[in-house]
Amino acid sequence: MVSEDVREEYKRRLLSKREILKNNLSSLCVPQQEDERREVGNYEPDPWIFNNACFIVLQRSISQIDRALDILKNDPQRYGICEKCCQHIPAERLEIMPQATACAVCPNYI
Ligand SMILES: [Zn+2]
Repeated sequence: MVSEDVREEYKRRLLSKREILKNNLSSLCVPQQEDERREVGNYEPDPWIFNNACFIVLQRSISQIDRALDILKNDPQRYGICEKCCQHIPAERLEIMPQATACAVCPNYI
């Protein structure tokens, strides 16, 4: 089980990471409709695709952090337990990914 001290430390790290991701998200443009795309050459990276991909990745990361923070707040004993198989998530995994709500074997999507 994850001790209360460790949970507090992970909560602090998650909140700080969330803040950084939110700032990154607000620096991106809101995804636009495809017909508003600028014409770009065939060999240039498409900024529309890049922008939207970043937007989706950041949003997904933030919602994963929100999910972990929600567990820490409302059901702290459940933090560190895989939502899929109910096994303990290894400490090494939580150390790297405190937002993990699933073990390495189970898919960690929402
Ligand atoms: Zn699992």
